[in-house]
Amino acid sequence: MRAEESRGRRYPEPPHPYRSAYARDRDRIIHSRAFRRLEAKTQVFTTRYSDHFRNRLTHTLEVAQIARTVASALGLNTELAEALALVHDIGHPPFGHAGERKLDELMRAQGGSFNHNLHALRIVEQFEQRYLDFLGLNLTFEVREGIIKHSRDYSAAQFPQLAEYLLDLRPPLEAQLIDWVDEIAYNTADIDDALEAGLLDLAVLRKEVSFFDEVYAQVDSTHRGARAKLIFNEALKRVLDALATDLIETTGQRVLSWGASSADGIRRAPKRLAGFSDAAAAQNRELKRFLFANIYNHPAITEDRDRSVKCLEELFIYYSGRPGSMPASYEELALREVRHVVVCDYIAGMTDQFLLRRHHDQFGGTICEQSA
Ligand code: MG
Repeated sequence: MRAEESRGRRYPEPPHPYRSAYARDRDRIIHSRAFRRLEAKTQVFTTRYSDHFRNRLTHTLEVAQIARTVASALGLNTELAEALALVHDIGHPPFGHAGERKLDELMRAQGGSFNHNLHALRIVEQFEQRYLDFLGLNLTFEVREGIIKHSRDYSAAQFPQLAEYLLDLRPPLEAQLIDWVDEIAYNTADIDDALEAGLLDLAVLRKEVSFFDEVYAQVDSTHRGARAKLIFNEALKRVLDALATDLIETTGQRVLSWGASSADGIRRAPKRLAGFSDAAAAQNRELKRFLFANIYNHPAITEDRDRSVKCLEELFIYYSGRPGSMPASYEELALREVRHVVVCDYIAGMTDQFLLRRHHDQFGGTICEQSA
C-alpha cells in the first residue's frame, strides 16, 4: 500500500510535511492511552514470578520488530505494517484470552458479544480523546481496516456496522502479515517465558517439537560445554528466524504466482496470500500444541488466571446491577447506551492491576491480590 493511495481519514486533514499518513497513524497509536495501558496487561505470565516476562506491550514491540523485517524484505509499506503491529492488541481486555472469553460469555448472556478487534476499533474511533476537532485518532482507512481484518474475516450480513471495510476483499499484505508475525512472536516468546518461569521441561519440548529438537542438537554440537540457557536462547532464536524467513519466502512466492502487481491485485486474490509453507505451518502447529498441552493449562498459570477472571466476572455483575457504581463519565454514557455495553467497555479498558484494585475496593478480601 502506498500512503498516497490511501482511502484517507474520516475527517480530512492537511498532509504533514515530513511524515506519511501511515507514519502519523503509527505515531498516534504510540501516543494513545490505550497503547500505554498494554504495559499493565498480562500476555500469558503474570509478574508474580519474574520481572522478565513479556507483557502485552513488550509482546507488541516484538511483533512490530518482526513485522518491519518481513514487510521490508517483501518490499511492502513498513510504516503501515508497523502501525498495524503496534495496534493489533490494543483492544485486549485484562487477563489475556481468558479475560476476552469471559467478557464475551458475559455479553452473550445479554444478547451481545465481545471481541478484541471490534473493541480496538471502538478505542481508536471513540474512546481516545486527544484532538479538538474529532473523537478518536482519525486513523486512515487501511489502519482501521487492518484492525478489523488482521486475524479473521467478517461477513457484512453478520456485522453490518463493518460494511465500509470492503469485507468481500482481502486486506493489503501489510495487514495479512500481522497474524502470522503475532504467532511467531508469541509461540517463541511463550517458550522462553515458560523456561524463565521454571515450567518448561526441555526434554519434553525436544521430544514433542521435533523441529526445535533438530535446531537445538545443531547448536549443541557446535557449542559443546556452553551454558544450557545460551544454547536454548540460540536455538529459539533460530526457530524464530526460520519461521520469519519462511513467511517472507512463501508469501513472496504466492504473490508472484498469483501475479498481483498492485495492492488492488492483492485485494482481489481469491484468498489471503500471506502465510507459511506447509512445512513451516506444521512446525508452528507443533509449537502451539506443545504450549497448550504443557504450559497454558499449567496450574501455576491457571490458578492466577481463574482467580482473576472470577474478579472480572464479579465486577461486571456488580457494575451492571448498580447504577451509580461506575465513574461519572461512564454513568453518563450509560444513560444513553445499554448499561452492560458501557460496563463491558469500562472493564475491557482496565489494566489487570486496576481491575483487581477495583474488585478489592468493592469486595475487600485478598482473593484477587497478585503480588507484584
Ligand atoms: Mg498479539
